[in-house]
Amino acid sequence: MEKLTIVIPAYNEEEVLASSLQRLLKIEDGLIEQQLFDRQSDILVVDDGSTDRTWAIINAENHSGQRVKGIKFSRNFGHQNALIAGMQQAINTADVVITIDADLQDDPNAIPTMVEKFAAGADIVYGVRNNRATDTWFKRNTALLFYKTLKVLGVQLVQNHADFRLMSRRAIQTFLKYPERNMFIRGVIPMLGFKTDCVYYQRTPRLAGESKYPLKKMLAFAWDGLTSLSIAPVRAILFLGIFASCLGIAALIYSVATKWLGLTVHGWSSLMISIWILGGFQMISLGILGEYVGKMMTEVKRRPRFTIESTIGA
Ligand code: UDP
Ligand code: MG
Repeated sequence: MEKLTIVIPAYNEEEVLASSLQRLLKIEDGLIEQQLFDRQSDILVVDDGSTDRTWAIINAENHSGQRVKGIKFSRNFGHQNALIAGMQQAINTADVVITIDADLQDDPNAIPTMVEKFAAGADIVYGVRNNRATDTWFKRNTALLFYKTLKVLGVQLVQNHADFRLMSRRAIQTFLKYPERNMFIRGVIPMLGFKTDCVYYQRTPRLAGESKYPLKKMLAFAWDGLTSLSIAPVRAILFLGIFASCLGIAALIYSVATKWLGLTVHGWSSLMISIWILGGFQMISLGILGEYVGKMMTEVKRRPRFTIESTIGA
C-alpha cells in the first residue's frame, strides 16, 4: 500500500501547531482506515528556524505517537526552502506528499478529495481557493494584479493556488531536478507536466498567531517570483529604449526644422524634460539589469538552500 506524508512548513507557529497536527492526524487516520494509505503514513514538520516553542511541540508530538516527524533548520531559510526540504525528505519513503501551511487556512477537509483525484490518475492536485473574502481589499487586488502581470508575461500559474497541493513521487522527483536557488515553487510546478487536477475550497482566516508574510515579505516574494520566472522586464527595457530613442529622433527633427525656419531657440524646458526622462529610463534599466545580475550571482554561488540542524523521527 502507498504511503502518504503531509509536509508542513512552520515558522513560529506555537499558537496553532499542536491543534493543526491533531486535525491533520485525524484526517490521515480516516484515509488509513479506508485503506487508501499505509499505516506508516505520517506528518513531517519543517521548523524553519523558529524562535518559539515550535520545535518543542514537534518533539512532544513525536514522543506521544511517533507519526509526527520533524526537521529543524539552523535558521530561518524561508517558506519555499522549508517546502523543498520537506519534499526532499518525505520522498525518501513516501509515495504521495501533500504540502499544507501550519495555520490550516487552507481547508484540510479538501485532502480526501485530493486523494480521490490522485487515485483517479492525477500526479499533481492543486488546492485552489474559490474566494478571497477573508483577504483585505489590498491583498486581493495586489494578488490579482500579480497573476494578471505574470499571465501577460507568459508565465503559467494556477490562479488562487498557494502551496497547498498533492504530488506523486515522480512529480516531486521531477521537481527536485530544478536546481535554482531563487525558487518560486508554484511557478515551477506547472512546468513539470503530468496529469493535473484541482480541488476547490474556502480559505479561512488564521486561527491564531500572526501572518508570517508581512507586506514587505509579500512584495519581495512577488518580485522574486516575477524575476525568477520571466525575463520580460529586461526585454521591456529594450522596447522602452527604442521608444525613447524614437521620441528623441522626433525631437531632433523638430528642433532642426524650427531652427532652419528661423523660429525660436527653445528654452530649457524641453532640455530638462528629456534629461530627466532619459535619466529615469536609464536608471530603471540599470536597476532591472542589476536585479538579474544579482539573481545570477546567487545562482552561480550554489549555496545550499538550507541547513538542517536536527531531525526527529525523520
Ligand atoms: N513560513 C515559513 N517560513 C517563513 C514564513 C512562513 O516556514 O519564513 C510558513 C508559516 O509557518 C506557514 C506558511 O509558511 O506555515 C505560510 O505562512 P503564513 O500563514 O504566515 O502566510 P499567509 O497565509 O499569511 O500568506
Ligand atoms: Mg496563513
